[in-house]
Amino acid sequence: MSIAEIFETLEYGPAPEDAAPAHAWLEAHGRAFGHFIDGRFTPGRDHFDSVDPATGRPLARIAQAGADEVDAAVEAARRAQPGWGALPGHARARHLYALARRLQKHSRLLAVLETLDNGKAIRETRDQDLPAVIRHFYHHAGWAQLAEREFPEQQAVGVVGQIVPWNFPLLMLAWKIAPALAMGNTVVLKPAEFTSITALAFAELCAAVGLPAGVVNIVTGDGEVGARIVAHPGVDKIAFTGSTEVGRQIRRVTAGSGKRLSLELGGKSPFLVFEDADLDSVVEGVVDGIWFNQGQVCCAGSRLLVQEAIAGRLTEKLRARMERLRMGDPLDKAVDLGAIVAPVQLERIDRLVKQGVAEGASLWQPSWACPKEGLFYPPTLFTDVSPAATIAQVEIFGPVLVAMSFRTPAEGIALANNTRYGLAASVWTESVNLGLDCARKIKAGTVWINCTNLFDAASGFGGYRESGFGREGGREGLYEYLRPIRRPAARRPAPTASAAAPPPPAIDRTPKLFIGGRQVRPDQAYSLAVAGASGATIGEVGEGNRKDVRNAVEAAHAASSWAVATAHARAQVLYYLAENLAARAAEFATRLAQQTGEDGTEQVEACLRRLFSYAAWADKYDGAVHGVPLRGTTLAVVEPIGVVGIVCPDAAPLLSFVSTVAPAIAMGNAVVVVPSQRHPLSATDFYQVLETSDVPAGVVNVVTGRRDVLAAVLAAHDDVDALWYFGTAAGARDVEERSAGNLKRTWTHWDERDWFDGDAEGPEFLREATQVKNIWIPSGE
Ligand code: NDP
Repeated sequence: MSIAEIFETLEYGPAPEDAAPAHAWLEAHGRAFGHFIDGRFTPGRDHFDSVDPATGRPLARIAQAGADEVDAAVEAARRAQPGWGALPGHARARHLYALARRLQKHSRLLAVLETLDNGKAIRETRDQDLPAVIRHFYHHAGWAQLAEREFPEQQAVGVVGQIVPWNFPLLMLAWKIAPALAMGNTVVLKPAEFTSITALAFAELCAAVGLPAGVVNIVTGDGEVGARIVAHPGVDKIAFTGSTEVGRQIRRVTAGSGKRLSLELGGKSPFLVFEDADLDSVVEGVVDGIWFNQGQVCCAGSRLLVQEAIAGRLTEKLRARMERLRMGDPLDKAVDLGAIVAPVQLERIDRLVKQGVAEGASLWQPSWACPKEGLFYPPTLFTDVSPAATIAQVEIFGPVLVAMSFRTPAEGIALANNTRYGLAASVWTESVNLGLDCARKIKAGTVWINCTNLFDAASGFGGYRESGFGREGGREGLYEYLRPIRRPAARRPAPTASAAAPPPPAIDRTPKLFIGGRQVRPDQAYSLAVAGASGATIGEVGEGNRKDVRNAVEAAHAASSWAVATAHARAQVLYYLAENLAARAAEFATRLAQQTGEDGTEQVEACLRRLFSYAAWADKYDGAVHGVPLRGTTLAVVEPIGVVGIVCPDAAPLLSFVSTVAPAIAMGNAVVVVPSQRHPLSATDFYQVLETSDVPAGVVNVVTGRRDVLAAVLAAHDDVDALWYFGTAAGARDVEERSAGNLKRTWTHWDERDWFDGDAEGPEFLREATQVKNIWIPSGE
C-alpha cells in the first residue's frame, strides 16, 4: 500500500499487546486458584474453567466455594473487624495507599489479565479501568485519613458482603472494597463466575502489602456462593452490583434481618440530543455511551432520543462512524470493540435483537464482518422503534442502540423518564438553560451534560427507582459503610403524672383521615377505639384501608410542585407550623396527657424545637461541587425522593410524628403518614395545624388505622418511593419483603429510640429523605 493510500484509508496495522507476562503469572499459579481467606490462599475444591471469550480457550480453574468456606471467610472478617476498625484512620490510610501503589506498579499485568478474562479491549482496561481502580484507592486512603475528623459521630457497619458482576470486575471490586476498608469495615467479596482472576490477583496484592489477615477475603464461585453470603448471619451489610432480578431477590432474603443493603442495578439510560447540539461530538458520545465495553455497562446510553429536525442527519453520521469502528482481538491496542463475556450473554443479545425486528423496528449493522472465532456481536442501531417496544424498555446489555425521536423538550424529558430505571442520562445541547433544566427533570442518579460515562471516586454513583439505592463514591458513598454511634440517652427527669385531670370532651369530635388537604371519612366506614391512659375509651379514629392509602398516595403525587418550591418557602411553612402549634400548646399537651398519662408539655416544646431545626435545615442541607479531575463542574444535587410513606411508632406520639414528617417535607417530599396506632389523636389534631399553616394540599396525608396492615399496603404500593417504618421486627421484615417489587428505599426500626434526644434529629433523617444526583458539566474549548 502506498503512503498516499494509507493517508486515504487511515488503515491501522495490528498492534497486539504482549500477553506473555499474564500467561506466565497464570502458569506460576498452576492455572488453578483457591479462595483468599484470613490472609492466605486455600487450595479450593471443585473447580470450573474461566474462559477467554475472544478465543474460547480456558485460562484458569476457579474454585467453587462451599458453605464451610463462606463461613470461614465471614469468621475471618469478623475476627479482623474490631482491630481494623479500631486502627487510627491514618493507619488505614497507609494500608490503602500501599494498595493503590501496588496496583499502580502492576497495572499492566492486571489490565491484560482483565482483557483476557472478560474480552474487553485492552484500550479500556489499560486506559480506563485500571486508572479508575487506582484512583479509587488513593481517594479513599484520603477518606481514611480524615475519618475521625469528618465522621466523629459514625462507626463502621462491621462485616460487609460484597458481590460484583463481570462487566468491570476489578473496578467494581475497587468501588466496593476501598470505601468499606477506609471506614473500618472488613469484607467478604465474591467476584462474578466469568471473571474472577483479577480479584484473585488483587488478593495477592493485599497479602503482599501486609494488609492484616481477614480484612479482605475473596471467595469465588457461582450465584449460590453470592446467595450464601447474602443469607449469612455474620454479615452486617450487603453491597451488590448486578441485575435488577437478583437485586430483588437479595432485598427479599435480607428483609427483616437488620442487614444494611445497597443495590446498584440495571438501567436503560436515555441519551437525549437536542437540535442545537454539536453533532460530531454527539457521535463520539454515542460511541462511548453504547459501544464502550460492548454495551455491557449498567449506565450505557442505550436509548438515543433525538429531536426530530436532526434525527435523519444524526443517523447518517452514526452509520458512517459505525462503518469505521474496529472489532477484533481485544489485545489489539487499535481495537474499539472486543468480545462479549460469555455465550449466555451473546444469546441474550441475539434474542432481544431478533425480538426487536419481530416487533417492527428497523435494524442496521455495519457492512464489515465480525471475527468468526470467539464471542463477537456487531454494533447495532435500531430506528423506527416504538417507546413501548421490548428493546426500548428492557436492558439488552450489549452493543445495541435504540433510537427514537421527539419534538419538544417536554416530550424529550417524558420519553427519557419513560422507564422503570433511573441510573444515568446524557443530555446534549449548547444551551446551558436547557441542559440544566433537563438535568433537574430527568429521574436518574447521574446526568452528564455534553458528555457521557464519566465516573470518579469523588463523585457518587447510583440509581433512582428500579436501578437500586445507595451511592458508590464521594462522601455520600461513605455513609453506606457507616452507622451512627448511639450514645446512651441523656437522662431526663421521669415524666410526672399529669397534674390536671383530663377535661371531659365537650362535644364529640370525630377525627377523620386527612387526604389531599381535606378531612375525609375512611372508605370502609369502620372506626377504631382509642384507649386513654386509664384504659377508658377517649375517642375513635377512622380505620384506613388500601383504598384510603391509594387516595393518599395519589394526593401526594398531585402535590409534586412542593418538590420544586424554594427551600426558603418550605422553611417558612415549617416555621408557620411551629407558630400555630405553639398557639395551641396547652391543648396538645392535654391531649398527650389524656392518651399517655404523662405531662405532654415537654413533648410539645420538643416538637417546636424540632420544627425550627428542620426549617433551619431546609435551605442548608444541600449539595456539593465535587473535586473530580474534570475541566468543568460536577454538581452533587440533593433531591427529594418523591412520595415517602411514614409509619410512626407509639412512643412520644406527637414528637415522633413531627420528627419524621418534618425532615421529609423540609426536603421536598410529600408524605403519607400512619400515626401511632395506640395514640393517634395527637396526629389527627395536628392536621388542623396543617390546615392553618399554608401546607399545600397533599404534602402531608394522614391515614389512621392498624399499623402493620397499612404499612404492608404502603410497602407494596409501586408509587410510594420510600418507606420509613417504626414498629416491630416482624413488621420490618414484612415491609422489606413487600418493597422488593419496586425496590423502594426502606428505613426500618424496631428498637426503642429516644425521640427527645439529639440523635432523633438531623443528618441521619435528612439523608433518608433525599437522594443525590450528580450532574457533570464539562466546559471550555
Ligand atoms: P447477576 O445479577 O446474576 O450477577 C451479578 C453477581 O451476582 C454475580 O457475581 C453473580 O454470580 C451473583 N449472583 C447471582 N445470583 C445471585 C444470588 N441469588 N444471590 C447473590 N448473588 C448472586 O447478573 P448476570 O451476570 O447473570 O447478568 C444478567 C444480566 O444482568 C445482564 O444481561 C445485565 O442485563 C444485568 N447486569 C447488570 C449489571 C450492572 O452493572 N447493573 C452487571 C451485570 C449484569 P455469578 O456470576 O456466579 O452468577
